[in-house]
Amino acid sequence: MAESVAAYVGLGSNLADPLRQLALALAALSALPDTTLQAQSPFYRSRPVGPQDQPDFINGAVELRTELPPLELLDHLQSIEARHGRERTRHWGPRTLDLDLLLYGQEVIDHPRLTTPHRELPNRDFALQPLLDLNPALHLPDGRALTDLRLQCPDNGLERLDPEPAKPFSRRLE
Ligand code: AMP
Repeated sequence: MAESVAAYVGLGSNLADPLRQLALALAALSALPDTTLQAQSPFYRSRPVGPQDQPDFINGAVELRTELPPLELLDHLQSIEARHGRERTRHWGPRTLDLDLLLYGQEVIDHPRLTTPHRELPNRDFALQPLLDLNPALHLPDGRALTDLRLQCPDNGLERLDPEPAKPFSRRLE
């Protein structure tokens, strides 16, 4: 049996009911072969990177334990994106669903299709913060702690979304 690795995937959406997109993405990630969805972070609202004339993003992250090799995992992430009707009209433009492989264990991968740790991770509070929620001890293969990167990274106006409030108990006791 292949050895399993802790992989962290960032999720983002700013089109077509982003919360629903992320819920569907979580369902798809939990159904990946040779992979277990270990934990999901809270969701955050963030201002878009790049063009500002687009809706805010909703972001989150998940921790997977997977036996899939990194490029196979990327294939699956890209097919989930495609199934969710990802639209790419312009660079850094709005998107239905964006899945980024942020960390694949402590592996440093420099491949034409895949860079891990994700190249932009140190600059993105909307990726760093959900990772820290999942595991505050995370660090990059070069030893840098994500807590330190989070303190240094630009501010995207991150706002944590509360979980859906519980429905009030409506049955009246007679
Ligand atoms: P993006 O606009 O961030 O969705 O970038 C998509 C492109 O980035 C695809 O062509 C991927 O092959 C490539 N890519 C490189 N590294 C990664 C990574 N760590 N996670 C996801 N996509 C990646």
